Parts: sequence; C-alpha cells; structure tokens
Amino acid sequence: MAGHANHGHAGTIGRLVDLLGRDAVLTGAADLDLYAWDALSHSRIHPAHPIVPVHPLCVCTPADTAEVQAVVRLANEVRVPLVPYGGGSGLMGAAASLAPGIVADLRRMNAVLEIDADSRTARVQAGAVLETVDAELHGSGLMLGHDPWTLPVATVGGTVSTDGLGYRGGKYGSMGNQVLGLEAVLPQGDVCRTPAVSKHSTGVDLKHLFIGGEGCFGIVTEVTLRVFPVPEARSLHALRFDSFAAGFDAVCDLTRAGCRPILFDYGDETEDPDGPSILFLGFEGNPDLAAAEEHVALDACGRRGSHELAAERAEHFWRERHSAARRFAANRTERRKRGQAGAHQDWVHVALPASRVLTFRREAIALAAARGVRFRDSGLWTGPELFSLRLAKEGGDRARVELGDTVAALLDRVHAYGGSVEYCHGVGVKLAPFMVREHGQSLDLMRSLKRCMDPNGIMNPGKLGL
Ligand SMILES: Cc1cc2nc3c(=O)[nH]c(=O)nc-3n(C[C@H](O)[C@H](O)[C@H](O)COP(=O)(O)OP(=O)(O)OC[C@H]3O[C@@H](n4cnc5c(N)ncnc54)[C@H](O)[C@@H]3O)c2cc1C
Repeated sequence: MAGHANHGHAGTIGRLVDLLGRDAVLTGAADLDLYAWDALSHSRIHPAHPIVPVHPLCVCTPADTAEVQAVVRLANEVRVPLVPYGGGSGLMGAAASLAPGIVADLRRMNAVLEIDADSRTARVQAGAVLETVDAELHGSGLMLGHDPWTLPVATVGGTVSTDGLGYRGGKYGSMGNQVLGLEAVLPQGDVCRTPAVSKHSTGVDLKHLFIGGEGCFGIVTEVTLRVFPVPEARSLHALRFDSFAAGFDAVCDLTRAGCRPILFDYGDETEDPDGPSILFLGFEGNPDLAAAEEHVALDACGRRGSHELAAERAEHFWRERHSAARRFAANRTERRKRGQAGAHQDWVHVALPASRVLTFRREAIALAAARGVRFRDSGLWTGPELFSLRLAKEGGDRARVELGDTVAALLDRVHAYGGSVEYCHGVGVKLAPFMVREHGQSLDLMRSLKRCMDPNGIMNPGKLGL
C-alpha cells in the first residue's frame, strides 16, 4: 500500500476539524490503513488490472446530515475524492481509496429514528448496522427483510449502495426492494429526499440513483425501509439430490408454483461437479401460508428425487449463517491478504435466464478444466436465476493471471447469454472493466449523469466503471 500522503493538505484536515470537532477526524496510520480498503482480497485482483489502495488524507465521522453536507462542500472546494464508508465489508473494492482523499465513515449516524408498526416501516440513519436495527425492530414485533451473511457488520447505507441480497431475499427481495424512500446528500452538497411510499407515479423515482450507486451519486444519510412481522412459524429442511441438474429442476418447479422460501441455498456437496447437491430450504410467516408453501415445495422436490437429511443439518446451517461475517469483523485486515501465500480463489455471482443456467454451468466447468483451474463448487441463491461458482488455482502471479483470465472468459459467456456479471456484491473496482460490455451505450448515460451531478468528480471516483 502506498504511504501516508497528507502533507500539503494540512489545511483541509484543519478545516474538517473546525467543522466536525477533533474527535471526528482520524489521521493515525492504523486508521488510515484500515479505511484504505474493504473486504476485497488480494487473490481476486487480476495482475493486469492492479488495484493499488492508498492511505486517505483522513477519515471523518459526521454526526448528522448537515455535517455530511459540510464535508461534501469542503471536498468540492479543495477538489479531493470523498469515499463514503459503511461497514467496509464490500467485496469489490468499492470503498477503497484509490487517491488520497477524505473517507466519510457514516457509522455515527446510527439511529433508528422512527418505527411505524401499523405501516410496517422504519426510518433509520444510513450508518446503522443491520443487526442493531433488526434487534430494535424486534421490540415492536418486526424485523428486517434483508439478512446477508454480514448482518452483524454491514450498514443500511452500504447495503442500499450495493443493493445487496440476503438469505430472506427469496421472499422479500434485495435491500433495494425494501427501500421506500431515502435522503441523500448530493455531490455538490444539496439534499435530495424521495417520497417514502410503497409506490408513486409522480415522475422518475430518484431513489434508484442511490440503490446500487456505490456512493458515486451522493451519500445516503437516511432510509425508510419496509419491515416485516417477526414470523409466527418457521420450517427448515436440508434435501440431497443425486445431481445438480435434478435439484435445479426441483427449484424451477417450486418457483414456478409460486413458493417464496426464506431460505433457498442450493449447491454442490463436494468438488465433484457430477456428485450430489444439497438444497437448504425454509419457509416462515403466517403458519397456514408457510405450511402450504412448505407442502408444495417438498412435493416438488420429492418428485425430482430429493432425500431429506436430518433436521439438525438445516438448523445448524440457519444458526451459523452469520458466523463468517463475525470472523471477518474480528480480523478484517487478514482477508485482504488472502492469496498472497499462493492459494488463489475467486468466485462469480451471476444473474442468468433460468434456461441458460445448466448450460453455463457445464461450459464453466469445462473451461476451468481446460485451463487447469480447480472447480470448487457451484450454487444457486434465493432463486434459480442467481448462480455462483467458486474457482481456485495455486501458484504465484502466473496462477493469479490464469484464474483471472478464466473468470473474465466466464463473464464474457454471461454477457453472451444476456446475463449480468454480478447479482449482489456490486461493481467497485474489481468489476469496473466489465461495465462497458454489461451496459453498452447505457454506460454513457450513467457517465453523463455522473458528470452533471458531480462536475468535479469527487464522489467515490474510479468506482462502478464511471
Ligand atoms: C464474509 C462476507 C460475507 C458477505 N455476504 C454477503 C451477502 O450475504 N449478501 C450481500 O449482499 N453481500 C455480502 N457481502 C458483501 C458486503 O457485506 C455487502 O456488499 C454490504 O452490502 C456492504 O455493506 P457495508 O456497510 O459494509 O458497505 P461498505 O463496504 O462500507 O461500502 C460499500 C459501498 O457502498 C458505499 N457506501 C457505504 N455507505 C454509503 C452511504 N451511506 N451512502 C452512499 N454510499 C455508501 C461505499 O462507498 C461503497 O461503494 C459479504 C462480505 C463478506 C466479507
């Protein structure tokens, strides 16, 4: 990592201290090191597209929307990059500092401002960690519909800005689907508020500039979310299929029948791509509705030859679903180094038409084998269209090139099939080189919007392929 680069910007740091107070501006080397980067690991960076994070000039921790506005205006005046930072758990380098600038950690803005139980809505500040919001909602008999692995770490603002997907996504959709309205500070310091209603027909819904916007179009400061009753009943199952294709047919059948599982996690049981696969399946909510869905889904699986495993297997899976994130939180800088010792691993999470998934899987396995890249496993999450694949290769930089080239070739196939190269982790810097192919001329439109809203290019530059 390039070193400390804040000489010449002492005036900027001093002005931030004047605006926010000394305690709200961090300049120590350990803080700058921590905030320079997110959870993107070394082994997932293609040597041909190196990503070199640098220490920011400083990290600031604004306490309210007015302070965020003041920081944005200062960054514009002195023309330094401004990177919004939530839990720092993003996997694509979207919160990385690529040039010395200001990092704005939103986590002091963590209040649950209002819970309206009758309307099933919650108005929360963007820096609130999901698990904390969820715990507070429980007091009103409600819960969040977004339940990613990183529930204990990720923030409302970060998950909106990546439009993340969680375990309950099969029933409630992505984080973006749960945003009714939001408040954001625009790149020149003005505030934008969108109506917090379930639907409106009064023009373009500007909240979509920020859902998946990775902080490039402004800083989200407040969000009104749809929230859900704590379920009265829940049932969990682990089902084994003899082959990936058999289980795939089953999940297509149950999806077609209208089942909306809260747990839908399907994948290879071993590294043998022709071996058995396991489907973790769950339903929750009103006991009668959940039981009806469970009945239809188990029937669909049974017809495709599923074998039910011990109940404890599914319960253990559900209980432990956030443990990887707790490990990450306990030692977050270690993750960045993954692969430096020569064991490289990368994965793709792609959206495809369901009719293409099995063909793509077959092609991917053949392509990896032809290039000497190891197939680890493949899977589906929340629905039959969202497919993932994990690949590995051991060795030095040459191995990293071969792994990266294989992933790039796979993403090319995704585009040939009319798919999208990522379904939940965002673009950041890792997938930026693929955005021209992903969006075609629409990327020019996004870039024009960006220039129009952010003429000085201060808001999280270098991300999203903008
Ligand atoms: C072990 C592990 C498991 C994971 N599992 C999942 C999963 O199940 N589902 C999933 O979707 N993702 C998962 N992720 C990825 C990550 O948790 C998500 O991308 C999450 O949404 C990021 O939230 P964050 O608060 O950490 O955001 P950050 O990483 O801090 O930031 C992400 C992006 O949002 C921007 N941003 C942050 N806050 C704001 C704001 N207030 N306004 C504007 N822009 C902002 C940042 O600049 C950056 O571009 C996982 C990551 C790890 C390490």
